[in-house]
Amino acid sequence: MDIKRTVGVNCMPNIFSKIKHFLTKDVKNESESKDLAVLLRLLCIVTSLYILFNSIYFAINASYFFAILSIPIICLYVGVFIETYENKTKFALHLFNYTTIVTSIVFTLFTGWDKNYQWLLCIVCMLIFFSVDADSKFKINNMEIILITLVAISILSHLIGVHKTGSQGSNIYFSIITAAYYGSAISLISFNFSKKFNASELKLRSYNQKLQEMASLDALTLLPNRRSMNEYLSQLVFEKEKKGDIFCIAIADLDFFKKVNDQYGHEAGDFILKETAKILQMNMEGRGKVSRWGGEEFLFCFDNLNMEQSFKILDEIRSIIESRKFIYKGNEIKITITIGLEEYYHISGIEGTISNADKKLYKGKSSGRNRVVT
Ligand code: GH3
Ligand code: MG
Ligand code: MG
Repeated sequence: MDIKRTVGVNCMPNIFSKIKHFLTKDVKNESESKDLAVLLRLLCIVTSLYILFNSIYFAINASYFFAILSIPIICLYVGVFIETYENKTKFALHLFNYTTIVTSIVFTLFTGWDKNYQWLLCIVCMLIFFSVDADSKFKINNMEIILITLVAISILSHLIGVHKTGSQGSNIYFSIITAAYYGSAISLISFNFSKKFNASELKLRSYNQKLQEMASLDALTLLPNRRSMNEYLSQLVFEKEKKGDIFCIAIADLDFFKKVNDQYGHEAGDFILKETAKILQMNMEGRGKVSRWGGEEFLFCFDNLNMEQSFKILDEIRSIIESRKFIYKGNEIKITITIGLEEYYHISGIEGTISNADKKLYKGKSSGRNRVVT
């Protein structure tokens, strides 16, 4: 007894996962859409059930002709279902649409407007609008044809006298089945396409983010570029002026860099720039921000640090660069760096602070290089 119950409980998720796997099976052809194939499979199931329940209703009410007419229609939906597994999703979509249009027209005209088959045309409309791989003009033309057909069958059903309401029992049955079927079909289509749109939206956002990141980095050194540093500084000034906090700015320039290019070639120069950038980035981690300001110039920003604290960090960096032996294609290259440091004051503004740091840098150049000037 217990064993049976355990087996029964374990079997249920297994059956569901098998059904799920069967319904969501991928299409073999890469040019076909799996999402569309799965949507068509689910639509075939709910539409066949809708037609089947109605045919049982017709049989109970002695309308045997309509009950039998439902059989070939259900067979066509089964055909659509099978085609989605045969790499023929586009054909399956067309077959689904044509079968649904014919069902809608025939059943509305012969069984009456009150049975609600006419609204099947709206399901086709949604499928054409969302999934047909065509331009807007084609979609609009098809939708116009479907809307005209809907109006035409409404007029025709009046003319041939079937535009009438049925008995109370019939009204209740068709209201319930209409709500259940159209509710599920519209939800399936909407869910499928909203999923698709969300996925494209997320992809687009991640591309935009990557583009933004690329636009803010210097391509050679991968340090933030001048534009992004300027943006950062404007934001920092805005925040600091509210709080009254301090920050320092420094400009660094590699000494006799032209000689490196002349002696070892431009590629060696590029190599030195990249390696220097790595040293700067590593030593500024958690202390502030460094950017490539121009050719062989770098701009530093020390958030919440005073001149003394910033000087200590910069002199450490200067000393690391001075003692580093850069090896490029077997050549040992030595380089030094000169830095001008200035504290930000509201009176000077950001441009004035940078200009003062620049003046100190050139003071350092004229007084022997390889130093930090405060
Ligand atoms: P100083 O100590 O006075 O700064 O001397 P310097 O030789 O560094 O100064 P100068 O301004 O005369 O030379 C800078 C050189 O930097 C010239 C330019 O070719 C080189 N340079 C600028 N950008 C790059 C780059 O991206 N790659 C390479 N390889 N060289 C660059
Ligand atoms: Mg230089
Ligand atoms: Mg320079």
